Amino acid sequence: MTYSVLPTPTAVPAALPAAASLHAAKLYKTFTLHHQGGAQIPVLQGVSLTVQAGECVALQGPSGSGKSTFMRSLYANYRIDAGQIWVKHQNTWVDLAQLPPHDLLHVRQHTIGYVSQFLRVIPRVPALEVAAEPLLDLGYEPELAYDTVRNLFAQLHLPERLWSLSPTTFSGGEKQRVNIARAFAVNYPILLLDEPTSALDAENREVVMQLIEARKAGGCTMVGIFHDDEVRDRVCDRRLPF
Ligand code: ADP
Ligand code: MG
Repeated sequence: MTYSVLPTPTAVPAALPAAASLHAAKLYKTFTLHHQGGAQIPVLQGVSLTVQAGECVALQGPSGSGKSTFMRSLYANYRIDAGQIWVKHQNTWVDLAQLPPHDLLHVRQHTIGYVSQFLRVIPRVPALEVAAEPLLDLGYEPELAYDTVRNLFAQLHLPERLWSLSPTTFSGGEKQRVNIARAFAVNYPILLLDEPTSALDAENREVVMQLIEARKAGGCTMVGIFHDDEVRDRVCDRRLPF
């Protein structure tokens, strides 16, 4: 692909470890509440993080401390006020904070997966379709895409009778498993996980921990928010305090 904005080589910090694939540099984000007298909520004030392939970093801190905001910023869901979000995308460093929307889409399709806290569900679209969509968008044969998702659904103990139904009426834990299958169906080099196990029982939490461990062993770069100490202690290599 060609980028509309090519990062200049000198713009990428020179001191990054060779295996680094994600580097957030001094991110700032303040929310302005326009409907409440323009009240300002400073959430990120110069947060930096470098993560290498095969490493999982936990964002740790109390509720409301900015963990999800940081993660959404890493995915360029939120526009940051200042800072750079360097991502190694197909062997080129790109700054997501600067990337035009079309190129950002390409990075999200191929390089960064994101498990949001809540699954956005579209009425009438079956769970199988919801979870297969990223693979289909990448041009996978439908049968291969559906088989990959069926395997993940089975691993995650999602009852087969639900696969052809829209997740609209699913329980929190069922929606969460559809969301996890959707993100893990693609072999993304970078995965962002926002409380992926918060609504799961012990058995499925174990499945998710094994999925995460397998991806790490395969060199995936991970950033996660885990409310569960057991999960965090097992899958994360270090913490970024919030
Ligand atoms: P955490 O994930 O650590 O619980 P969040 O990042 O969700 O924290 O929220 C951090 C702070 O930013 C909170 O005070 C929250 O109210 C505020 N906030 C988060 N998202 C928005 C938003 N879209 N608009 C305004 N304020 C927000
Ligand atoms: Mg959060």
